[in-house]
Amino acid sequence: MKRKISILGSTGSIGRQALEVIEKLEDKFEIIALTAGSNINLLNEQIKKFKPRYAYANDLKAIEGAEPLSLEEICSNKENDLILVAVSGKIGLKPTVTAINNGIDIALANKETLVMAGDIVMDLARKNGVKIIPVDSEHCAIHQCIKNILQVDKLIITASGGPFLHKSVEEMKNATVEQALAHPRWNMGRKITVDSATLMNKGLEVIEAHHLFNMDYDKIEVVVHPQSVIHSAIEYVDGSVIAQLGIPSMHIPIQYAITYPERYEGIKTHSFSFSEIARLDFEEPDWDKFKALSLAYQAGNIGGSATVCLNAANEEAVFAFLDGKIKLFDIIDTVERMMNLHNTKANPTLEEIFEIDGEIRLKTQELLLKLA
Ligand code: MG
Repeated sequence: MKRKISILGSTGSIGRQALEVIEKLEDKFEIIALTAGSNINLLNEQIKKFKPRYAYANDLKAIEGAEPLSLEEICSNKENDLILVAVSGKIGLKPTVTAINNGIDIALANKETLVMAGDIVMDLARKNGVKIIPVDSEHCAIHQCIKNILQVDKLIITASGGPFLHKSVEEMKNATVEQALAHPRWNMGRKITVDSATLMNKGLEVIEAHHLFNMDYDKIEVVVHPQSVIHSAIEYVDGSVIAQLGIPSMHIPIQYAITYPERYEGIKTHSFSFSEIARLDFEEPDWDKFKALSLAYQAGNIGGSATVCLNAANEEAVFAFLDGKIKLFDIIDTVERMMNLHNTKANPTLEEIFEIDGEIRLKTQELLLKLA
């Protein structure tokens, strides 16, 4: 039987790679729906090739070859066995909640879903018996390592360190957009690449790991590992460490997430070789240079709306940086100032989360105007 899948964000980096995986495994999947934002040309090409029944784009009238539906309608269609949430930004949260409420399993690549509303989303998934299978390489690695979560003592999340790992604070302060976007290992979207340069991305992943694996923050450790071969690891209570390794390619975790619990050859191109890699290095993160990481732990430990504030302030500041309006370090200063100003609300509802997100964004934009 074919697995019936929809992809939210099929024209983005993860969505395109997911379709490459599905192309290799075409006898295993039937595509119910593809969705995009404004990249209508690519969406229509994908519709022609993969023949989904439904599609969504910002401009519904521009869709050719599939029945246009809203994101909510696509995510409440119980024909879906699995929905890959590969959109970036807060737009991913509501459709994910809809899919969970309809008992549809989720392959999750959207960071905001758990950073903004991890408690609500994981609780709903438990109540509805829905599997949330992580796509991000680190969480995918941990997912593969864990057999019994109760025996796990520590999660070890690896970080490549990004383009400024061994650059001075001074060089990082004055970095250009191009330098921040030149990630040494991973080819990703612009926003996440800047987050990888500040290590905010790793901070957001720590928050996601806390929710996905129900692990206290003091049991989640970040280690810098520039080769990005070990995608993450766990330590069991008896001191045994299990790690997941592979070449740094997003195809592998995407394929794992959408075929789980099966495994297929699919996208594999060549066999893994330890001798080709030759060496693996590790170091403690530089907490002074990468303050974003401390801020993320801080927000996670406070909980409630604190992580909503962290995420919203960061995203607005990253956009300002990409527009050339502020410097790289201003991103983190902005996030810190917004967090200091924020009155945390414990256990916010989904509506309150969106309200707080909107307020933080407005206030952050005002602050950024003064900086620019
Ligand atoms: Mg990652």
